[in-house]
Amino acid sequence: MQIVVATHNEGKLVEIRRILEEDLGADAENIELVSAGSLHLPDPVETGVTFQENALLKARAVAIRTGLPAVADDSGLIVDVMGNAPGILSARWAGAHGHDKANNALLLAQIEDIPDDKRTARFRCAAALVVPGERKADGADDDKPYTIASETVEVGEMPGVLLRAPRGANGFGYDPLFVPNDQPQRAVDAGEKLTSAEMEPAEKNAVSHRGKALRALVASIEALVK
Ligand code: IMP
Repeated sequence: MQIVVATHNEGKLVEIRRILEEDLGADAENIELVSAGSLHLPDPVETGVTFQENALLKARAVAIRTGLPAVADDSGLIVDVMGNAPGILSARWAGAHGHDKANNALLLAQIEDIPDDKRTARFRCAAALVVPGERKADGADDDKPYTIASETVEVGEMPGVLLRAPRGANGFGYDPLFVPNDQPQRAVDAGEKLTSAEMEPAEKNAVSHRGKALRALVASIEALVK
């Protein structure tokens, strides 16, 4: 069965595929994850005001067009001292969508005077699965011919603290500034704390907001191929 990952970012597809395939085990053989980008589907405007709403609207848009089950995620950084900003605006905090360097520089400047013990933050991710239903009989809405049979949304968080300067070259977004509370065993053994940009992808996925939210969806995905 094909399941569409509602993203135009191939990097995200790789990360989501890795997390889901690891947890799906043998069921992974019966599931082919393809991206909305590779199917040339439009990227919907994220008009939701919560991560859950945005994840659902992205998955819904794909399912009602294609008749295929769709998985989508929406995520961001929540900084306690900033009243939970940048939140759903994380990708475009400094203006241009997805400009990581500018976003990080602005965030650092905004919390420059905040002492180390108050620089607590967390990443949050909502992951949604939308399963389409029947094709509509009346032929209306030709570009969205399917109804929705079911919707599931799960949320995961990764708490941690923000540094004063970036460290590490893996990951993306705010990873170089963020030290997760949950650390891989090699860091615990060495008595050091890694940023999520200093972790290997598997180490980050094990503790990440996206890993937690997507793993919580696995039972619903498995039910589609059982
Ligand atoms: P979206 O989920 O694609 O809308 O993007 C959310 C934005 O939040 C990204 O552009 C990053 O700025 C930030 N973000 C979400 N998850 C992560 C992560 O795992 N590491 C670093 N930044 C993240």
